[in-house]
Amino acid sequence: MAELEGLEFGKSDFVLLDEVTMEQFMENLKLRFEKGRIYTYIGEVVVSVNPYRQMDIYGKDTIDAYRGRELYENPPHLYAVSDAAYKAMKRRAKDTCIVISGESGAGKTEASKYIMQYIAAITNPSQRAEVESVKNVLLKSNCVLEAFGNAKTNRNDNSSRFGKYMDINFNFNGDPTGGHINNYLLEKSRVVQQQDGERNFHSFYQLLRGGSDEMLESFHLHNDPAAYVYTREGAAAATSNNDRTSHKAVMSALSVIGFSEEEISSIYQILASILLLGNVQFESDGESVQVVGLEAVQHISQLTSTDPDGVCKSLLYRTVATGGGEVIEKGHSEQDACFGRDAFAKALYERLFGWIVSRINSVIEVKDYNPVLHGKNTVIGVLDIYGFEIFDNNSFEQFCINYCNEKLQQLFIELILQQEQGEYQREGITWQHVRQTQTDASSLDTLTLLLWLSPTDKTMDFQKHFRIRHYAGDVTYSVEGFLDKNKDLLFQDFKRLMYNSSDPVLKEMWPDGQLSITEVTKRPLTAATLFKNSIVALVDKLACKEPYYVRCIKPNEMKSPVLFDDARCQHQVAYLGLLENVMVRRAGFAYRQHYARFLQRYKMTCEYTWPNHLMGSDREAVEAIVTQHGFQDDVAYGHTKLFVRTPRSLFSLEQERAALI
Ligand code: ADP
Ligand code: MG
Repeated sequence: MAELEGLEFGKSDFVLLDEVTMEQFMENLKLRFEKGRIYTYIGEVVVSVNPYRQMDIYGKDTIDAYRGRELYENPPHLYAVSDAAYKAMKRRAKDTCIVISGESGAGKTEASKYIMQYIAAITNPSQRAEVESVKNVLLKSNCVLEAFGNAKTNRNDNSSRFGKYMDINFNFNGDPTGGHINNYLLEKSRVVQQQDGERNFHSFYQLLRGGSDEMLESFHLHNDPAAYVYTREGAAAATSNNDRTSHKAVMSALSVIGFSEEEISSIYQILASILLLGNVQFESDGESVQVVGLEAVQHISQLTSTDPDGVCKSLLYRTVATGGGEVIEKGHSEQDACFGRDAFAKALYERLFGWIVSRINSVIEVKDYNPVLHGKNTVIGVLDIYGFEIFDNNSFEQFCINYCNEKLQQLFIELILQQEQGEYQREGITWQHVRQTQTDASSLDTLTLLLWLSPTDKTMDFQKHFRIRHYAGDVTYSVEGFLDKNKDLLFQDFKRLMYNSSDPVLKEMWPDGQLSITEVTKRPLTAATLFKNSIVALVDKLACKEPYYVRCIKPNEMKSPVLFDDARCQHQVAYLGLLENVMVRRAGFAYRQHYARFLQRYKMTCEYTWPNHLMGSDREAVEAIVTQHGFQDDVAYGHTKLFVRTPRSLFSLEQERAALI
């Protein structure tokens, strides 16, 4: 138990606080951060504070120390929960999931990578080639997804602009046999516009700065991001990323995963087309609109293997079906043309990203799994999804992200309670049910209602802003652009153009391009509805798994390793509901341990059990230890575990043990 480190490092589990108050919680969190102890438990939940510096706690020695151990045997660590999830999966054939939450820059993605590395390190001891290859693809997929889905923002130089849920499948040996990635709501508006000081997705800069001269020349590109409208803003943004070396790593990861050379070149051709598309300008003579400079259009058509006239036409006209069923071509206004161009660029990128994910899935998907032959196929899911966001200007993306967080928080509360209750029930322990503050159900209802608003609803046009009281705080959303983003309009002409491409990769991304204008549904599902459905499916997926939680906290806004911003941290602790979490945990029994484990650890402290006990069962031996130390009133005996109400009882035991070894 981490108390062995001594109290100068603070308490390793918040349930050990003398009193559960915000002051004590914050004091402990800060002390531990300052002492370089970035992880602290609340029972089995890991609270993590981003250290903003390289910590020497992820090496092989550490992995070995945590492997197969119980939570309380080592200082708090991501590895300990990873191991707990793994053990539950392997020993009890449970599907488990690790849910990582926290705001942007709090350390979620780094945590998810350490978790995956840990799982990779402790599995497949016999080094079977097919398992190694699955592990390799799973690990390499991070590099690819980060290149295409991450960007420098003002909060995080490597901010994930999509949500990710990854299932890892295991065979009865506990070795990974495959996996599946779900991605959520890529922030595609970033493709055409970024805030001051922010960048477009890494992939664009990697291509421009890292692509070979030969490649860039064949794509008609300069190597300077300042030359392109879509990357101009971010061209000068300082970042810790080295785009050139990353490009090499991504290219190599793509081929290790199994992307063919043709596929890789299609990917980069699509990126190049988007950059060129951003530079396409229009001019109007008052009557009709024209493309300025047709060279870019030529290049786009070459890169997308489409007809140049077709590209030009889809940029300037849209096909519409009249009420009478007649199909006509309608010329764009200059404004429509710009809107169409940007919508096209965003859609190209979004579909490219989706295609990359599904291509990775096709490689890691579990094939030929026969449960009769191979035993139950179990799963560990890892969820790394954007945290609650409040910006100066909150739009559609923040709305969706916050909706998602609201849902996940609700699930967290339900599951934590359910888990506690389930454990007591299984162990035959009576327990007083505690009520907990719920997320405000009414705010979720409002959200749901808003999500159903149809894009043509004029109700929202009357006002500029609306405000929602989230569990994490009030957020004012700006209506501007909101409905357009929700409607997510892309003219069918672009879809058809892409579907007719002679590049099979591109064509595959646009199956809906085969529909004629009269077949296109009049009212497609809105982006918010699609998103909501995907989050509901996610919640269902999580709800049937045994959950483990990592709650990430960002210590300051300056990315500083020494600054602990009290107010900012307290705010996060409050909206993550950590204090309530401690209370729930303390309301019952703070500690629980299997009899055999307990005995093994403490038998030296009791004359009846050292060196070997002569009692009938482990349970009886544990009773002897507990009684000898005089805390029999503070415990309950479950079927397989000892439950200890207050942590203090264990303290004395730990101290005695420490004195003896
Ligand atoms: P999030 O995914 O929550 O937005 P990240 O995981 O990308 O945040 O973390 C942001 C940055 O913080 C990382 O790029 C890294 O510099 C730093 N960081 C986060 N976790 C750690 C860690 N455990 N050790 C060292 N640095 C970290
Ligand atoms: Mg992230």
